[in-house]
Amino acid sequence: MRKPLIAGNWKMYKTLPEAQNLAKNIKIESHDLSDADVVICPPFTALAAVQEIIKDSDIALGAQNMYWKNKGAYTGEISPAFLVDLGCKYVIIGHSERRQHFKETDEEINKKIKVALEYGLIPILCVGETINEKERGETENIVERELTNALSGLKYDDIRNIIIAYEPIWAIGTGKTATPKIAEAVHKFIRSFIEKNYKSEVARELRILYGGSIKPDNIRGLMKEPDIDGGLVGGASLKAESFIEIARGACEQ
Ligand code: PEP
Repeated sequence: MRKPLIAGNWKMYKTLPEAQNLAKNIKIESHDLSDADVVICPPFTALAAVQEIIKDSDIALGAQNMYWKNKGAYTGEISPAFLVDLGCKYVIIGHSERRQHFKETDEEINKKIKVALEYGLIPILCVGETINEKERGETENIVERELTNALSGLKYDDIRNIIIAYEPIWAIGTGKTATPKIAEAVHKFIRSFIEKNYKSEVARELRILYGGSIKPDNIRGLMKEPDIDGGLVGGASLKAESFIEIARGACEQ
């Protein structure tokens, strides 16, 4: 039985006081959410302050990115060791916004996953196709290529410590959620990819999140699908009420 996981990606929103306020409100409302793992991923600048607020709760801290070296002359970068210092348990890797705006490559994503695992961080690996790729019928090819490259060189024991998020790019921040059936078909494909390339036991245990315009009114439909194990939530995670309502929806399954 896979425990649902709901992760909030705050992106480049929330000043320090705003982030503290949001974290406090999420914490207050989160008492009845023990049937799901709840993760919040504030911007780097708020990680320490948010951790201070959630440290005595079941909410876990995640980062939105990191560099693939542990230290060195890399001005402006954030090392996995820094994230561990701050109490992060999770790190989002390969979000489509990083691939698109910062030209992150599959090779860099692979390096980041390996380093995250070395430091005991749980990577939330994002994969997904653009609208053009979807219309050309290339979804499975794109997802397969991204998985093959991102997971290259990893053993099945490593896969145990990874979470995959299927995030169709056309659904992110657009209000156009994939229907549960469309999302389920890709989630099933991802699970069978893991089964084929690793072990069926690992595939069975793997948590695969859906991401793309999740809202309180669509989470329940998505969670009914057998291969959807939770969500990576952007816009709706910026308000405590909607984020908590989504986490509640995930707990009901
Ligand atoms: C995301 O940022 O990963 C995301 C899914 O955003 P949104 O929920 O706003 O579509």
